[in-house]
Amino acid sequence: MSAVLSLYLHIPFCRKKCPYCDFYSLPAEESLMDAYEAALRDRLREWGGRLSRPNVHTVYFGGGTPSLFGAARLMHLLEAASAAFEIAPGAEITAEANPADVTDDFARALFASGVNRVSLGIQSGNDGELAVLGRRHTTRAAAEAVWLLRDAGFRNLSLDLMLGLPGSTGETLGRSLDFLTSLSPEHISAYLLKIEPGTPFAARADTLSLPDDDGAAEQYLLAVRALAEAGYAQYEISNFARPGFESRHNLQYWRSGEYLGLGPAAHSFLSGRRFFYPRDLAAFLSGNAPVDDGPGGNFSEYAMLALRLAEGLSRAACAARFPDGAARFSELLRRAETLPARLILCSPERVSLTAEGFLVSNAVLASLLS
Ligand code: SF4
Repeated sequence: MSAVLSLYLHIPFCRKKCPYCDFYSLPAEESLMDAYEAALRDRLREWGGRLSRPNVHTVYFGGGTPSLFGAARLMHLLEAASAAFEIAPGAEITAEANPADVTDDFARALFASGVNRVSLGIQSGNDGELAVLGRRHTTRAAAEAVWLLRDAGFRNLSLDLMLGLPGSTGETLGRSLDFLTSLSPEHISAYLLKIEPGTPFAARADTLSLPDDDGAAEQYLLAVRALAEAGYAQYEISNFARPGFESRHNLQYWRSGEYLGLGPAAHSFLSGRRFFYPRDLAAFLSGNAPVDDGPGGNFSEYAMLALRLAEGLSRAACAARFPDGAARFSELLRRAETLPARLILCSPERVSLTAEGFLVSNAVLASLLS
C-alpha cells in the first residue's frame, strides 16, 4: 500500500428518488441512519486496525445525500476516521449536499465538523428543468445555499450541472452556465445526463424530448467554452476548476492512487486489488465482508484513467510506475499519432485528449488500448 490514501464514505439515504438516478440510496429514516453511523464507525475502526495508520489526504462523503444525514453524524464519522487513520493536516474533506438541506445552522455545523469543501447538486439554472428532474430545490434555494455556506466559512465549493436535459437547448444551458458562474464557485462538475436502465426516465425516455447525440455534443462543447471564458479550466472530462481547486479526491481516482470506500455500493482500490461492498444496506449493517473485484492498476487501466484528465498520460509517469512503462507509452503514442489532431494531442513525452476527444473518449481509448 502506498503512503497516501483517500477515504470515501457512502451515505445511502435520500428524501426521495430522482427519476434519472440509479445510485444506491434508500429513504432517510432517523433510526436507520443512526444504525448506519454506528456501522460505519465500526468499519472505520476495523480498517484502521488493518491498515496501520496510513496517511489519509482526502475524505469524501458521497451519496445518496450526505446533507440529509446531518452535520452531527458526519462529524462523528470524521472523529472515528481520525481515530482510525492519520488524517493529514490540510486534508480535503468534502461532503455532497442538496441545496434544499442547507440552512444557516446546517452550514455552520458542517463547517465546525471539519468538512472544508461542499459539493452542491444544483444541476440546472432553470426552475422548469429542476422540476422535470424531480429535484427538491429551486434556483433561489440553490443561490441561498451558496450564500449560507460562504457565510459559514466555506472557501471551496463545487457545483454540479447536468447537460443534455429533457427539453434543453443551447439557450437554456446558457442560462444555467450564467447562473452557476454568477455564484462564483471554485469548482464545477458538468455531466451529460445518461438514461440509466431501470430508472423512471428510462421507462419514459421516448417522451422526454432529449437532445440527440449532436445536440448533446454541442451542449458539452458550449459548456467547455463558456466555463473556460469564466476562468474554469477543464482538468477532466466533466470537471472544471479555478487554479488550485481541482478535486484532490477525484484526482486520486484518475491518477490510480489508492482509496478505501466504505458503505453499500462503495468501491476500493488497495494494494493492487479492487473490491466493493454490495448494494445491500442490511448486509452492511450486519457486518458483511467486501467482495473481491480482482486485480487493478495495470497499464491499460492506468492509461485509461489518466487520459480522462486534460494533463493526459506522460512518458515519465508511465516509466516511473511500470517496468516496461516507457515502451508501452511509445506504443500508445504511435497509435495516437494515427488519430485526428482535433481529438488528441501528441508530443514525444505526453498524450492527451482534446475537448472533442473527450466527447468520444470511449472510441478513442478503444483504439489506443485494444
Ligand atoms: S438526491 Fe442524488 S443520490 Fe438521491 S436520488 Fe437524487 S440524484 Fe440520486
